[in-house]
Amino acid sequence: MGFLTVRDEDPQPGRRAVLTRALGLTAAAGLGAAAAIGAAAGPAAATAKTASTRASQADWRFCTKCYGLFFRGYPTDGACPAGGGHDAAGYNFNVPHDVPETPTAQHNWRFCTKCYGMFFWGYPDNGRCPAGNAHAAAGYDFVLPHDIAATSKSQRNWRFCPKCYGLYFYGYPTNGRCPAGNAHGMAGYDFVLPFL
Ligand SMILES: [Zn+2]
Ligand SMILES: [Zn+2]
Ligand SMILES: [Zn+2]
Repeated sequence: MGFLTVRDEDPQPGRRAVLTRALGLTAAAGLGAAAAIGAAAGPAAATAKTASTRASQADWRFCTKCYGLFFRGYPTDGACPAGGGHDAAGYNFNVPHDVPETPTAQHNWRFCTKCYGMFFWGYPDNGRCPAGNAHAAAGYDFVLPHDIAATSKSQRNWRFCPKCYGLYFYGYPTNGRCPAGNAHGMAGYDFVLPFL
């Protein structure tokens, strides 16, 4: 959807984020052989599944109050459009980042340092943040699989909100709370997020 140049920004690691990365590295080391085989097979083998084992970040969670996806790897839980911090429930999503974009995986999804939500950074403006004004990007360039079959380790129905640019779960009869007012809107791809 957009072609902005990726900017270099500090990931602002927190205590839980550091722990998550440490665990991620351990897991990646264990999968080293499989990853090496994938690499040897060439670019055609670089499927979203292979990529997610190479570079992904866990601790992304569903918020029961706004239905958004937010990073729970810090001691606090950001700013929720429904008030206070986000409240986590459900799966522990393990989101691929810094891997090539494909016809079924979209990059330019970023962490917002103000609300801790996941938002789309591919437009000139950056939507609406529950902490005020637009979202502010930092850290990894997340690459979200979309329009593929869900498995026992992934969940579909995650959508882009054209009002706030956030990613939220569209699988309930209502659509949570949008920082731009009322419920989230829905547009674009059907994202399928892997979880642990
Ligand atoms: Zn929330
Ligand atoms: Zn934000
Ligand atoms: Zn929204």
